[in-house]
Amino acid sequence: MARIVMKFGGTSMAGIERIRSVAARVKREWQAGNQVAVVVSAMAGETDRLVGFCREASSLYDPREYDVVVSAGEQVTSGLLAIALQAIGVPARSWLGWQLPVHTSDAHASARIEGIDTQALDASLAQGEVAVIPGFQGVADSGRVTTLGRGGSDTSAVAVAAAMKADRCDIYTDVDGVYTTDPRIVPRARKLKRVTYEEMLELASVGAKVLQTRSVGLAMKEGVRVQVLSSFVDGPAADTLPGTMIVGEEEIEDVERQLITGIAHDKNEAKITLVEVPDRPGAVAAIFGPLAEANINVDVIVQNVAHATGSTDVTFTVPGAELTRALDVLQKAQVSIGYNKLVHDSRVSKISIVGVGMRSHAGVAATMFKTLGERGINILAIATSEIKVSVLIHEDETELAVRLLHTAYGLDAEEAAA
Ligand code: ASP
Ligand code: MG
Repeated sequence: MARIVMKFGGTSMAGIERIRSVAARVKREWQAGNQVAVVVSAMAGETDRLVGFCREASSLYDPREYDVVVSAGEQVTSGLLAIALQAIGVPARSWLGWQLPVHTSDAHASARIEGIDTQALDASLAQGEVAVIPGFQGVADSGRVTTLGRGGSDTSAVAVAAAMKADRCDIYTDVDGVYTTDPRIVPRARKLKRVTYEEMLELASVGAKVLQTRSVGLAMKEGVRVQVLSSFVDGPAADTLPGTMIVGEEEIEDVERQLITGIAHDKNEAKITLVEVPDRPGAVAAIFGPLAEANINVDVIVQNVAHATGSTDVTFTVPGAELTRALDVLQKAQVSIGYNKLVHDSRVSKISIVGVGMRSHAGVAATMFKTLGERGINILAIATSEIKVSVLIHEDETELAVRLLHTAYGLDAEEAAA
């Protein structure tokens, strides 16, 4: 017997037909003698619809009431799945966030899970009942309903798995695993059998949108074994690990380790250059201080060598959606920063190569620069971490760059992905 958490995303829960097929999948795990808790998302598109209602009702809505409204999507699917399970002879019941309870902070609309009581859950599982838990929701000490922020049900699933000391947390989604890169760009992308938490964190934060980044951080902290797999292919049993396992580095054998594990791209970046910033101590702080205060995340940063005039140019990126706000902050701070001109460009794209193998190998970045340079792709900025190299390029060259790098690092499969 194993204890497992199965998590189903919005596309897997979209409509009664799909909920029935989810129930059939859950039944198989339960019939195999496992203790099963299921965490569900709202039906695809439902949370957006509910958010829309709040905005329509008032542009200044109370976040506590917003949480009451948007958490409803998961309340519906958890009840429906329990009904569908009962209909095929599986004892099941739903446990809403406030019923378990899932304790969270009181930061409404972006609450953090602080702990999950498992007493009632354990008793129910021990009786052979399947527990159906709505993702995304919890309850604050005040007794009011909270939600975790968009995409939060992945985090709910990992938190439930950690609390009940599950052997595995299977995340069923509309892709069958984590790939070396986006298969829509590179048909020869390969599905990874295993990826480390750290790599997954980097891949998730640079645009491989399989899992919510926060859920990966939590899995790493709690040592939860997470598997990403498809709820649409009727493949081999989940315990034969048909998807991608996200595991600690020690679980990955040296022989299967590639230099580069994956390549991610992100077109939602915008580049800002401040021309002729005074080249003196404190100048850079004068730029990034006000941006941090405005809660704008700055990523790739480059400071050029000083001009003869005693000034320098500083280039950095911000999320595309934050560009307008960032420009506003910087214009207001022009006098205190002392720059001459502000230039911006949202037609840029960030390409990142990620792999723990980089730690022990030299020349990984050089291969990247050479590969791009040979094909005339200009690098606008560079950033690195211990297991990642990111470059900023022109947006139109995104697909070409990803393909070239995928081949350069030997990641192409023999045959195109199905
Ligand atoms: N339903 C929520 C959302 O759409 C949470 C989730 O599905 O992860 O953001
Ligand atoms: Mg999701």
